Amino acid sequence: MAGAAVLLITLVASAAASRDTPPRKIAVVGAGIGGSAAAHFLQQLFGPRVQIDVYEKGTVGGRLATITVNKQQYESGGASFNSFSLHMQDFVKLLGLKQRREVAGKSAIFGGEQLILEETDWYLLNLFRVWWHYGISFLRLQMWVEEVMEKFMRIYKYQAHGYAFSGVEELLYSVGEYTFINMTQRSVAECLLEVGVTQRFIDEVITALLRASYGQSATMAAFAGAMSLAGIQGNLWAVEGGNKLVCSGLLKLTKANVIHARVTSVALHNTEGRALYQVWYEKEDKMHSDFYDIVVIATPLYVGSNSNITFDGFQPPFEEFVGSFQSTVTSLVHGYLNSSYFGFPDPKLFPFASILSTDAPNLFFCALDNICPVNISATFRRKQPQEAAIWRVLSPQPLERPQLKSLFRSYYSVQTAQWQAYPQYGSRMATPLFALHDQLFYLNALEWVASSVEISAVAAKNVALLAYNRWYQDLDKIDQKDLIHKIKTEL
Ligand SMILES: Cc1cc2nc3c(=O)[nH]c(=O)nc-3n(C[C@H](O)[C@H](O)[C@H](O)COP(=O)(O)OP(=O)(O)OC[C@H]3O[C@@H](n4cnc5c(N)ncnc54)[C@H](O)[C@@H]3O)c2cc1C
Repeated sequence: MAGAAVLLITLVASAAASRDTPPRKIAVVGAGIGGSAAAHFLQQLFGPRVQIDVYEKGTVGGRLATITVNKQQYESGGASFNSFSLHMQDFVKLLGLKQRREVAGKSAIFGGEQLILEETDWYLLNLFRVWWHYGISFLRLQMWVEEVMEKFMRIYKYQAHGYAFSGVEELLYSVGEYTFINMTQRSVAECLLEVGVTQRFIDEVITALLRASYGQSATMAAFAGAMSLAGIQGNLWAVEGGNKLVCSGLLKLTKANVIHARVTSVALHNTEGRALYQVWYEKEDKMHSDFYDIVVIATPLYVGSNSNITFDGFQPPFEEFVGSFQSTVTSLVHGYLNSSYFGFPDPKLFPFASILSTDAPNLFFCALDNICPVNISATFRRKQPQEAAIWRVLSPQPLERPQLKSLFRSYYSVQTAQWQAYPQYGSRMATPLFALHDQLFYLNALEWVASSVEISAVAAKNVALLAYNRWYQDLDKIDQKDLIHKIKTEL
């Protein structure tokens, strides 16, 4: 936390009298959900007169993207959200979008040779099966996740009251004290064993759930794990028409100026005692630049990342940018599933829409889903297993022909998207800063402790509030301790 304190002192020292007028121009680098939400929150706070330029080197939506198969679009990146995703729910309402109708489908876990857990149509039978195999581990898992989420949800209250944090550690401490900070340093398996979950449940069920959401095992850090396991608490949902509509919708609502270009560097200029940033960008093979009062970097920074942004004239805390990303391939296969591979020679009898996998050594895929298009009509029904369907396969490497042949009897097409999907959550994670300089912010700092669409939205609101509180020198709204108590007395 010392780094954040030094930055704050520098900030106070460099405060200029001109700070009672709003900033003129703000740059946001990246038009994924993080950048789009940041543009929206920044405009809400600073008002409609500030010009917001959003730079995007690829496609608006970033890791929210679709692939078209047979004239219908399917999610190829971030696919669904849990019921705790409050900012996403607000965006959908604000933009007049709809949550996509849920189409029921059963799941099973594949252990490499056979299915080791199968969901049935009967809720009570499912409960009984889980209890029979794993005792009360499932209940203990639910209690653990519930406790973590209950604490994490405090962030929405803090944000509603205008509080912001200059570092990830400050944010985590404020919502979950040392328990959350420790959870970035310990593995999921360690934390779950401690609350009485069995090793067998971890190896068979938790590992399968974590592989499906992060492509990683139960040795990953507990905080990220708990955030993704929150999906077990209630229904998952998605946006009718495609999740990326939230990004384009927010940018349109904000009237942000979207510049299709790659930002190459951010250089510091000091004028009249305050920082001014020169953003350099490459567009159609030519270099251009523009000046900004505030800059938000809304893409992950790490050595070897494809954002490739350098900083001139100042030294942001570079030691924080270590770490690596997990590569994940989404393959959308239009074809006939080979249900024999899962022990069902007759495809008509294969009842599952979703197969998760354990980390058995011969398993080359993390999850396999019979997916629905982004638009679902009232009459839509999921394809039966004996029919050709669109299957989404998540795997760490592109699928080779023999692997495709083992999963599918035959197929019409295979389309892929290769992602640097999420950080590799070793159980010794750094907790980077949101504030890289006076008015330069790093939204994806939070992604280094957990990655999801909602996490990027939470980080977007945090950097917008941080920029606002710093701009107007409202330092009582930054890095405050004991906020639960403070907020109660404020009410
Ligand atoms: C296969 C897959 C499945 C997933 N499933 C889920 C899920 O079910 N639920 C969930 O909540 N999350 C899921 N996620 C994670 C989720 O998609 C991400 O956490 C979230 O979309 C990240 O948003 P972001 O805006 O922070 O980053 P990004 O979406 O990565 O946006 C960053 C943007 O910045 C742009 N950019 C980078 N460098 C530059 C530059 N130098 N100049 C200009 N622009 C630049 C990029 O092109 C990109 O568009 C999944 C991710 C993947 C890959």
